[in-house]
Amino acid sequence: MTQKDLFSDFSIHNLPFGIFSLPNQKPRVGVAYKDRVIDLYNLAQKEGWDMDIEVLQQPHLNDFIALGKTVTQKVRSDVKDLINSIPDIELKNISVSILTVQMHLPIRVGDYTDFYSSLEHATNVGKLFRDPKQALLPNWKHLPVAYHGRVSRVVPSGTTIHRPQGQIVKNKGANPEFRATEKLDFELELGCIIGKENPLGERIPIEEAHSYIFGLVLCNDWSARDIQQWEYVPLGPFLGKNFATSISPWVIPIEALEPFKVPAPKQDTPVLDYLHSKERWNYDIQLEVWLQTQAGQEYQICKSNTKYLYWTLEQQIAHHSSNGCPLRVGDLLASGTISGKQPQSYGSLLELTKNGTAPLQFSNAEKRSFIEDGDQIRFRATAKKDAYTLGFGTLENTVNPIK
Ligand code: CA
Repeated sequence: MTQKDLFSDFSIHNLPFGIFSLPNQKPRVGVAYKDRVIDLYNLAQKEGWDMDIEVLQQPHLNDFIALGKTVTQKVRSDVKDLINSIPDIELKNISVSILTVQMHLPIRVGDYTDFYSSLEHATNVGKLFRDPKQALLPNWKHLPVAYHGRVSRVVPSGTTIHRPQGQIVKNKGANPEFRATEKLDFELELGCIIGKENPLGERIPIEEAHSYIFGLVLCNDWSARDIQQWEYVPLGPFLGKNFATSISPWVIPIEALEPFKVPAPKQDTPVLDYLHSKERWNYDIQLEVWLQTQAGQEYQICKSNTKYLYWTLEQQIAHHSSNGCPLRVGDLLASGTISGKQPQSYGSLLELTKNGTAPLQFSNAEKRSFIEDGDQIRFRATAKKDAYTLGFGTLENTVNPIK
């Protein structure tokens, strides 16, 4: 990927929000436009915006998002009007080069929920971990399955990922040993940032669920498959997951993705009323996973699409709040691994290599069953339509290199 590709992600149609800093300066709110980051606090001061501009000096987007969509969308449309009305040279006065900034975790994540919304992923994992004949458990097509994850593990793109240790059973029937994972994996997911709260005890009707979405990020739910496989029965993921989940730095406003809406896959099992809506939409966003070795060789190892998701974002939100659980501004709802039908669209190495039994052969000398020390995993997401492309930037993390 070239820098030019990255700049084309952030066209006038996108204008994502993020938290950036310059050397010796505090992190604050910015908007990405092409190869520039617009400093929103400076701009708001200059333009005399009628809003609480102190939120633009905060090190997270939460307070800005909490002002509500009337404000955040107005800011986005004001920035758009300004870009359209001034020459590029003047734009330079209110922005800095994207290459000079450090990006931070965009959100102070309050709660993290990880769904399991891809039919193909749930089927593939069920086949590998349980019974190939009954890969899906009986509840799967009736509700969007999820677990609550620990927030302290949510880290920004660029954070070095350490290889976790844990209880591992090397051979079937043997006793567990405490050792470093040999099955370090990624999970290709979409992260939904919640933009509005529902009070404790009040559920969110599915027709209103969309209005609770502020925006989307890329999400890598790092996994240690050998730790996971031993520990997950009967209560689900724990130490095989909570050592790292990384998210991309730019939050793409959900409104920017409107042109890329496509009908979600048909649900062949009828759902209960609270999960039923007349129309179900996904987004046509191409996803790519790249693995770069410590020596610098790059290999594309997966190509998927968010349109494959069986359970939509709105269904996830309606289900999450169906018992009166309050969602809060800045909550992170991850989709679960997004796999498609074709083997090259599988969103984890667990699936791509059949739990390590069929390694990806890159060259005579290079193959992978799981992630090795020094490997970098990079996610990309782009939506294309007619004249323009809209992208998420990159989410990239390197696994602690061999010393
Ligand atoms: Ca996951």
